[in-house]
Amino acid sequence: MADGPLAPIILESLAGEVEWLPWTTPATPQPDVVALYTYGHPHVGPALLDQFPNLKVISNYGVGVDHIDLHAAADRSIPVGNTPGILDGATADMGFTLLLATARRLVEGDRYARSPDFTVYDPGYMLGTEIHSSKLGIIGLGRIGAQVAKRARGFDMQVVYHNRRPRPDLEATLGVSYAALDELLATCDFVMLCCPLSEETRGLIDARALGLMKPTAILINIARGPVVDTQALTDALTKRQIAAAGLDVTDPEPLPRNHALLKLDNVVIAPHLGSATVATRRRMAELSIENLRAGLRGQPLLHPVRPAGA
Ligand code: NAP
Repeated sequence: MADGPLAPIILESLAGEVEWLPWTTPATPQPDVVALYTYGHPHVGPALLDQFPNLKVISNYGVGVDHIDLHAAADRSIPVGNTPGILDGATADMGFTLLLATARRLVEGDRYARSPDFTVYDPGYMLGTEIHSSKLGIIGLGRIGAQVAKRARGFDMQVVYHNRRPRPDLEATLGVSYAALDELLATCDFVMLCCPLSEETRGLIDARALGLMKPTAILINIARGPVVDTQALTDALTKRQIAAAGLDVTDPEPLPRNHALLKLDNVVIAPHLGSATVATRRRMAELSIENLRAGLRGQPLLHPVRPAGA
């Protein structure tokens, strides 16, 4: 079980049954451990699971489960639960926060407004990118992507999306249309990543993909860091091959403190704050504990996650 500032609150209802373990694979089997609660993104793979022969459930605090080997858990008949559907609004809000901040150069402007250099207003400085009436491309129109699309309508944006499977059921209600990946990349003013991290999406936004984007385009990543090739993005931003990026997630996370990306003005980075509101984090805590309790009772989880193809 991983430690963290919210964890004592989350697990207060389980007091007496909880043991804090460092997130390393134990040297010997741990037959007393019956549940794993993953808080943060600790890697859960076969070697770790083999040391917990009596595990009944893995409950993840969050929706992304790319750090959990779902096949390894399924092979051992261990159900895995996550917390979808209750963090969509907060995460979409963060996507829009990054979109607005990068387009209107808010963080750069804040730094300038506080600095001794700001002595006179000049109508010519820090011109940004128009948001309203621009074109937004959403890669991954699922629960979070749909919430992003709803917000974009309020900004009079034209919205296209790309999934592996088109969603005609959502197109009319959300006012969005389907685009092939390369078309989306080449024509959008903003590209927002809302897909899961998988073997298919790892490195999806690489040098080729960035090369297709308009020099005025802005990339927003609220998915997972490895969906973007960090070196390719650093190069593209340095050479102004694209205008800017807004990142809630990075690869690695956090970036080394001396990483070139941290020195660029045309990137806004948040420390993975997508679902970080008091209300959303409380709902995530409640749902993840419900999953944990159901697993311990041998009942179906409220939100089970299965490996692809299962
Ligand atoms: P979801 O409802 O399952 O939606 C995911 C969407 O991505 C689906 O529409 C899916 O459509 C699409 N997709 C999957 N593989 C794809 C591919 N190879 N190419 C293009 N589209 C693909 O999931 P969600 O609840 O919206 O969450 C999405 C992800 O957001 C999570 O997995 C997590 O990693 C991330 N997340 C981040 C934060 C944060 O703090 N920044 C918070 C919550 C979640 P198809 O299956 O048809 O392709």
